[in-house]
Amino acid sequence: MRSLFGGYGHEPAEVLGRTFEEVAGYNDIVLVKDIKFHSHCEHHMVPVIGRAHVAYLPAGRVLGLSKIARLVDMFGRRLQTQEAMTAQVADALMDSLHPQGVAVILEAEHLCMSMRGIRSHGSSTFTATYRGVFVDDPAQKDAILRLAGCTN
Ligand SMILES: [Zn+2]
Repeated sequence: MRSLFGGYGHEPAEVLGRTFEEVAGYNDIVLVKDIKFHSHCEHHMVPVIGRAHVAYLPAGRVLGLSKIARLVDMFGRRLQTQEAMTAQVADALMDSLHPQGVAVILEAEHLCMSMRGIRSHGSSTFTATYRGVFVDDPAQKDAILRLAGCTN
């Protein structure tokens, strides 16, 4: 239990660190796809298993890529709603990295849906949230959805 809910013992600033790398002329989208995560829904304390796609448009600084996966992992190790977790990842990146924009997409299977009530096996829930330039510029948002494989 301590490990499964270990995300409460950590803060985004700790996971992301305070040092960022300067971009050497790179000023385009950075997308980390298919970050596998496990969480537990706050209503039933039943596992949620999913993948996150996290993108940002740098404003002069970039993060070590593994830090994004660690951030997703940290928020997963808390009781969550998928909607809240999507927003938490986006806000943490905006607050510490100050990029031009952030996009976070989560696709997850909620075992509470398979195990209880309606027993909808294999259905997945999709949430997406956008900050900054991804809100202001629909072309940037479309680019992210295409790169993440969320459109046809
Ligand atoms: Zn649930």
